[in-house]
This record gives sequence, C-alpha cells and structure tokens, in this order.
Amino acid sequence: MSSMLDVKNPVLKNKDHYLTSDYKTRNPGRPTHNGMDLIGMNRGLDYIIAIDSGVVSKTGYDSAMGYYVNIYHGECTSVYFHMKKDSIRVRAGDFLNKGDIIGYMGSTGRSTGPHLHFGIKTTSYIDPKPYLLTNNIFYKNRVKALQTSLNNSYNSKLVVDGIIGTMTTLAIKNNPIKLGSKNNFVKFVQQQLYRVGYPIAVDGNFGTNTENAVKKFQTRVGISSDGIVGIDTVKKLVNM
Ligand SMILES: [Zn+2]
Repeated sequence: MSSMLDVKNPVLKNKDHYLTSDYKTRNPGRPTHNGMDLIGMNRGLDYIIAIDSGVVSKTGYDSAMGYYVNIYHGECTSVYFHMKKDSIRVRAGDFLNKGDIIGYMGSTGRSTGPHLHFGIKTTSYIDPKPYLLTNNIFYKNRVKALQTSLNNSYNSKLVVDGIIGTMTTLAIKNNPIKLGSKNNFVKFVQQQLYRVGYPIAVDGNFGTNTENAVKKFQTRVGISSDGIVGIDTVKKLVNM
C-alpha cells in the first residue's frame, strides 16, 4: 500500500512522492520508525535531492542505514538512507542549494527493496512530514530563530512569527555585530555561517574566525565585505 503525498519541498527529483511506510511513534520522542519511506513516480527509483539549502555534515555506509547522506540546515539535519552504492555525489563540507542532486535511490543496508528512508533530526528524530509538506518551513524556522536570538540578546520583544518586518529590521539596524561582540545573535549568525559552508565554532563569541567567515560570505554574495553583520548580511544569510 502506498499513497501519493502533496510535497512542497521535494526530496525526489521527479517530484512525485509515494509514501510506503510512515513515521511511527509509540511514545513521544521514541519513534518505532524514525523517518518516512518514499518511492518515486510509477513506484519507481529516482534521484534524491536536498530538501533545502545546507551543508553536508556526513556521508558514509552503515549496516542498517546503508549508504547515507546527512545535511545540516541550522535548526535541523535531514537524513537520506539506503542509497545506491557509488551513487553519492556530495561530500562533507559541501554547500548545497535546495534541489541539488545528492545521489540515487537504492536498497543498501537494512532494506527489503529500493526506497528512500527520509528523516529529520533535531536533538532526536522527529516526524519529517511537516518539512516535506509545508511551504517555506526552513526559511520561516530560520527567521524565528533569528527573532528569538534578538529577543535574548537585546530584549527586543519581537513577535516570533518568521517574518522579517519593520521591528525585526530595526532590532538588527540598532545592534549590528562585529569583532568582539558576544551574545545569542552572534551565535545565530555563526550557526548560519556554518550552514552555508564555513566550519566555524558556534559559541556566541565574534572572534577573528567569525570575522573572516563574514567577510568571505559578504564577498560571495556581492555586498560590502566589512566584516560587520547588519541587516543586509542577515537578509542574505537567511535567504541562502
Ligand atoms: Zn524507513
């Protein structure tokens, strides 16, 4: 038995996704099946693509997971299991755009037939369905994390709604961060820099490594590379 999903953020290149086994949980936080099993159009094989932008955190082989890829998105990590041997075309540290091909569906590891086991991990595995089915969920979660970090750092009292409006813009314009800054907003920016491919410490201390990463990022996106994180840099970061 399989059913077709109305997917907004595809993980299969040909867009049609059939669910063959759902995420199941007996107790909250203790899933008995910690992801969703998917197959492609006409119950078939397909290329596997990145659900959203992020940096490849790990690839490898495991007797249960088979050939696998993990992608770090900041607020969560997406995982792709049972891929075809020798089909993985990314490596740890690569920055990926949403939709980039990472490999091909297979049946490696503990698997009875070709499928993709797709999962989302925060501190533990959670139900990945909202991530597949909700428009802009990754972007909105990033902006919510930004707003929370600004509230924590400056008592900005922003509504955590995932939208960069007037108040969020003002909170950043009033509090640009640079070498020597130290707070949760710095930590958020470091997490995003890590996500887009700069492996720096995410510790809330704006040191020279963070400054260099900021300058490189600013050059990459074509804005003034002054090493200071203001509204322009933040907007480029959350949109990447
Ligand atoms: Zn599975």
